[in-house]
Amino acid sequence: MNVVFLGAPGAGKGTQAMRVSEKLKLAHVATGDLFREALAKGTEQGRRAKSFMEAGKLVPDEITIQMVLDRITAPDCGSGVIFDGFPRNLIQAEALDLALGREGRAIDRVVYIKVDEQVLIERLGGRWICRRCQAPYHATYSPPKVAGKCDRCGGELYQRADDTTETVKRRLVVYRAETSPLIEYYSKSGKLLEVDGVGSEEEVEGRIVDSLRRRTATAKEK
Ligand SMILES: [Zn+2]
Repeated sequence: MNVVFLGAPGAGKGTQAMRVSEKLKLAHVATGDLFREALAKGTEQGRRAKSFMEAGKLVPDEITIQMVLDRITAPDCGSGVIFDGFPRNLIQAEALDLALGREGRAIDRVVYIKVDEQVLIERLGGRWICRRCQAPYHATYSPPKVAGKCDRCGGELYQRADDTTETVKRRLVVYRAETSPLIEYYSKSGKLLEVDGVGSEEEVEGRIVDSLRRRTATAKEK
């Protein structure tokens, strides 16, 4: 079973991909990890990816696609893969389908973790970090005892540039523009499973596993 996980920044996609891959014994292929590994190993792709990342740009599709294709030939991907952070747009999705098709494989399910935009803005825009000890806080979910001060070391709390409300809104606009066509693409092929992403990690994991199992059972009956 090959599954793609989709979800906006802050929807909990990475966390759920990790949990569900352990539960269902599938390999977890996260493009972020692939980039870091390629950088650490100093591969040609890694060096190319690095130059884009350092400039604060997205790594071009061709580099990402090649890394993913190399990765899924590894033995641990034999029984199936959860793709996390890939495909990011329609071009990547079509390239992935082609590449899998050449090996007689396919994307079977696409899990779309749905979270209201207002909730995403609150989740992501409320993150604060201690300047001194890096302890993480959240304005709503885990606020410090004294506003602006770290409980642990008394250090000053700050927001990463990525986490300010304005940046978060911009990231969501970019995400929507790239992902809407992707959702439509997988919906047309009947592979899309929409899962409510609001609740505890356990609850959301349960919903994802249930819907994947239900779908697999129905497919076998046919
Ligand atoms: Zn601190």
